[in-house]
This record gives sequence, structure tokens and C-alpha cells, in this order.
Amino acid sequence: MSDLPTSIYWIRRDFRLADNAALTAALKHGLVVPVFVHDALVDSLGAAPKLRLQMAIEAFGARLEALGSRLILRQGAALDALRDVARETGATAVFWNRLYDPESVARDTAVKAALKGEGIEAESYSGALLFEPWTVKTKTDGPYRVYTPFWKAVRETYVPLPTAAPGDVAPPGNWPRSENLKDWALSGEMRRGADIVRSHVLAGEQAAQARLATFCEDQIADYKERRDWLDSEATSQLSDALSLGEISPTQCWNAGRRRMQEGAAGAEHFLKEIVWREFAWHLMWHYPEIDTRNWRPEWDGFSWIEDDTHPHFLAWCQGRTGQKLVDAAMRELYITGKMHNRARMITASYLTKHLGIHWRLGMRWFEDCLVDWDPASNAMGWQWVAGSGPDAAPYFRVYNPETQTQKFDPEGRYLSKWLPDQMFGASRTAKQFYDAVPESWRLSVTDRDPQPLIGLAAGRARALAAYDSFKAQ
Ligand code: FAD
Repeated sequence: MSDLPTSIYWIRRDFRLADNAALTAALKHGLVVPVFVHDALVDSLGAAPKLRLQMAIEAFGARLEALGSRLILRQGAALDALRDVARETGATAVFWNRLYDPESVARDTAVKAALKGEGIEAESYSGALLFEPWTVKTKTDGPYRVYTPFWKAVRETYVPLPTAAPGDVAPPGNWPRSENLKDWALSGEMRRGADIVRSHVLAGEQAAQARLATFCEDQIADYKERRDWLDSEATSQLSDALSLGEISPTQCWNAGRRRMQEGAAGAEHFLKEIVWREFAWHLMWHYPEIDTRNWRPEWDGFSWIEDDTHPHFLAWCQGRTGQKLVDAAMRELYITGKMHNRARMITASYLTKHLGIHWRLGMRWFEDCLVDWDPASNAMGWQWVAGSGPDAAPYFRVYNPETQTQKFDPEGRYLSKWLPDQMFGASRTAKQFYDAVPESWRLSVTDRDPQPLIGLAAGRARALAAYDSFKAQ
């Protein structure tokens, strides 16, 4: 038996061994009990984020076991679970990496105060962001509201090198009981889609590291030119790993910066995208209602449709709007749990502008379907496209899906990857949609192409007319 003290490393969205300040602190303290708590915040996740979380837990559990450790799973309120594990193991400290959404902040603040009140050391660390939101300030000491000055403020800021993964994680004298991951049925809400989405995801720290290495080696040089091409795999594909902390932004930043110093043309642009993620969290920290309310309050008076039973909204969710690019993208989302960034902008624009439907409905659908769901980036993305957000695209910027197809998918490869072709049939990936969707949607691969819900010119004109009358109010 070791006489070293025991601590709990409370894992939340930081499923990695390397570059993990909370884990490092726990290791320094002595013996470590890694704990994940399935609490109300986990319950509130959408279907695809829950599935992806399950995959992260599986991968991280295996990684810990390879080091002679374990991942202890508990369900219930976080404070109760941590308190119980501390009592059962004699742990005298709890360490975790900080999160920045309002619900997590409220929970963590209460947990920290209660643990400290009971004489248990409780410390949190930076691990999910390069720049914690309160550290980046304008000249007048306020938060940034526009991306470019935010980027200029942080781009030369020192970012430490990432730390290496530990060689072992010292186990406690006695392991507390753990619940069984299968019993949590985290993939249950995906129903028929679970196995299909799963087949498109590579989970775990090692997969993320391999992806970053390949991207930096083979793709980053052309990233700026090729990132908008819908069917090219020219981007890092790291968003789900970043969202769950299987890789840290510090690791991405340093790898990108090294390539920039070596002269890789697109590397700086990659760093800029990593900073878009930082900017989203900066906004959410300073404006915690960004995912519930129009960031510009004047938009509260706009005539959005906000009825989630509206047939146009259902057609959009089901990839049956009759606009091929929109439908292909919505099916990519349903099949893979992800959607190309440009397609996210186009589908969001089509919903909020051509169909006049509130961004909140679209945001919530993404929240349910995205394996890379991130509350800050999702809310910022939707409000940016809708025109109601900070630094937003102006309302009159209405993406035309046909022009976008000519520009970014001229050979129609993206379309045929996700949509059946009436002449040539359906590709393997396009067919997967029909195996993934709920049977209640009653869709068949032999269905005729849907008619457009609205003509592109008519939809654009209607959106602009709504905007003009809103401005005139
Ligand atoms: P890369 O191009 O390789 O970029 C590297 C990383 O930078 C990404 O992994 C991501 O973490 C970050 N990043 C890139 N673009 C953005 C951006 N516009 N905003 C914020 N961060 C960015 N991203 C999410 O991670 N989760 C979401 O829930 C999400 N919802 C979105 C909703 C809408 C309406 C829009 C327009 C964008 C949304 N994004 C979201 C941003 C973006 O589409 C994805 O991050 C990107 O498609 C991920 O692909 P990648 O990892 O290959 O990115």
C-alpha cells in the first residue's frame, strides 16, 4: 500500500492524457481516481452528442486501462458522486479542467464551494481554450464583439507548448465501484442511426493525434484554397475531438504554428479557425444568452416562423426541401453527425432566409444531430448567418445554393455522395440515409425528388421584403 495521498481527477470534456493540466495536478498530488459523472448536464445533451460522448468514454477508458488505471463511472448529481467517491477512496482533493457554458459554470462553482467547505481540496485548470475568456480584453477593458480585432489581439500571444502524456497513472489503494457504460444507453436516442453515425467517427486521443499529424503534413499547405470545396477532405476534421477534449487547442495551435514557420501557406488560416472557436467561447462567456436570445435585441421584433411542426421545417430536417445542395448537406449531417462548414452556412441561410424560420429551431436540430456539437460555435454560427448575432453576415447576404454548388461542387461529387441520383441510383453513402432515418419519416430510396418548397428568387425576394418592413418599423 502506498502512503501517497489520493485525489479524484474529474473528467468532463477533456478525454485525453496529454496536455491535461488537471490530470497533471492529480498525478503530482499522488494516487489518482479518474471519475466521469453522468449528471443532468449529460442528460440534457442531444442524441448525437450523447453517442459521441459514449465513444469518447470508451476510448479514454481503454487508454487509462493500458496505463494500469480505470475510469470510474457514476450517475447522479456531480457533487454527490464526487463526495461519495472521495469517501470511498479517502481522496482528499478533486481536480478538473474548466468549462465555460453557463450551466457548467454554475454547477462547477457550487461543487467547488461545497467541496472546499467540507475540507476537500478542489482546483480547476485551463484546458479547453487557448485564451480563457476573461483574459482577452479590449482597450476599454471590455469583451470583444468582432472577430478580426479579437484575432489581432491574440495572434501573437504566447501559447505554451503542450505537455506530454504521463507514462502511468498511479492507481488508488482500493478502486471504488463503477457503473456500467452500457447501462447508460447513451446511444439509445439515435435509434437506427447509431451504427451508421458511429461508422463515420474516429474517436479517441490517438485517432485525433494521427489526424492532426496527417492534416499538418499533407493538407495544411492548401487549406486556405481548398477548405471551402464541399467534397474535398481538405479540413482537419478535428471539431468533435476538440469539442470533447480528445485533443487540446494548444496541441492544434502549436502544430499549426510550426507549419506556419516552415512556410506552409494555409497554416495561418488554420490558426485563424482555431481562434474562431476561441471567439465563440469568448462570446458565450460574456453573453451567456447567445444560444437562447437574439444577440442584437432589435431582432426580437423580426417575423421569424418559430413552429417546429411547420412542414417547411420538417422538410429541411429531413433533407427534402427540393434544393439539392441543402438536401445533400442535411443528409450528410444525419448520416455522419457532421456537415461541411460551408454547407452549414448554406443550410442555415436557406432555413432562416428563404424559409423565414427562426435560427433557434435550426440550432436545436444541429444540437441534436452534430457529433461535434459545441454550444458556443453552434450558437455563434447560427446567429452569424441569420444576421442577429455579433459580427454577423448582413441579413441581405442570402446564399444561393445553386451558385454555391457551381462554385464549390462543380462536378456534383458532394451531391452524389449524399443524394440518390434518379438516373444512376444511389451511392453507398446516399443509401445510408434511408437506413438511418426514423421509420416514421416513411422515406424510401426510390422516392421521386421533392419539388422545391420555394423558388430561390422568390425566397430571396420574400426574405428581403421581410427585412425591409422590419427595418421600416
Ligand atoms: P477546420 O476547418 O479544420 O478548423 C479547425 C477547427 O477550428 C475546427 O475543428 C473548429 O474547432 C474550429 N473552427 C473552424 N471553423 C469554425 C467556425 N466557423 N466557428 C467556430 N470554430 C470553428 N463547430 C463546432 O465545432 N461545433 C458546432 O456545433 C458548430 N456549429 C456550427 C453551426 C453553424 C450554423 C455554422 C455556420 C458553423 C458551426 N460550426 C461548429 C463551425 C464549423 O462549421 C466547424 O467547426 C467545422 O465545420 C469543423 O470542421 P473541421 O474540424 O474540419 O474544421
